[in-house]
Amino acid sequence: MGAFLKQNHFLVGISIDGDEELHDYYRKTKAGRGSYRQVIEGLRVLQRHQVETNVLTVIQNHNGGHGRRVYQHLKSLGVQFIQFIPIVEPEKGKGVSSRSVSDIQFGQFMIDVFEAWREADIGKIFISHFDNALGMSLGMPSNICVHSPQCGDNIVMEHNGDVYSCDHFVYPEFKLGNLKQKDYPDLIETPIQQQFSTRKPIGSQLHCMRCDQRDLCNGACPAQRINDEGELAIDAKHVLCAGYYAFFSHLRPYLRAMGECVRRNIPATYYQKFL
Ligand code: SF4
Ligand code: SF4
Repeated sequence: MGAFLKQNHFLVGISIDGDEELHDYYRKTKAGRGSYRQVIEGLRVLQRHQVETNVLTVIQNHNGGHGRRVYQHLKSLGVQFIQFIPIVEPEKGKGVSSRSVSDIQFGQFMIDVFEAWREADIGKIFISHFDNALGMSLGMPSNICVHSPQCGDNIVMEHNGDVYSCDHFVYPEFKLGNLKQKDYPDLIETPIQQQFSTRKPIGSQLHCMRCDQRDLCNGACPAQRINDEGELAIDAKHVLCAGYYAFFSHLRPYLRAMGECVRRNIPATYYQKFL
């Protein structure tokens, strides 16, 4: 399998939520056992065949207090590309579920990872949030929909060819059609998708409009705007707002210094000269 994936230039996403204890907390096999060992066996096959991989790590309540531990573990596995995904689930009557990461946890998690990364791994390990923020601080567009000014770059296709506006919105009202009946360019031109792309409420959200981190955050994902009753509410404050704010505020001076390195065409590892 590894050879086939390599020969056909696959990029494989592999979910690892930390070391064995943290990963197995929620990720169980059908038999109820932890899946960590199987996942690592799979990772080793991919690494042996030099298949491109991107590790996806979800941040939830149980691992949200362990940013440095999670990062050091991924590093020890020889992982090079990492994407962190905060989990926030609405729960009727409660706001969000108990497994959701909190705003404070999320911000501190990302700061702790950033601190561990900048100490030793700039240019060696690539973390999508950091790369994206640096690119945005230099005037490039976000390559993550969550931090783009508009939604629309997260179209999802189901096993039967049905295509939806976003993997957070796999509901009938967001179905764009089926790939067996329409070509992809026609699907993304549909009025449903055009309307979906304007979903971000930053234009009407006073706290976002006045926010001094808005140029990097752009109001984050509208699917994580949830009111106290546990309903999606486009006009509610983002559940992780305080976390994003803390994270981007922390990053800002380093982005400035790294941006200076980019402008002078020298490696970003020299950023401390410009702090
Ligand atoms: S709802 Fe969230 S995940 Fe979907 S396109 Fe918008 S920002 Fe991206
Ligand atoms: S940090 Fe909060 S207020 Fe600022 S843009 Fe992001 S969600 Fe809006």
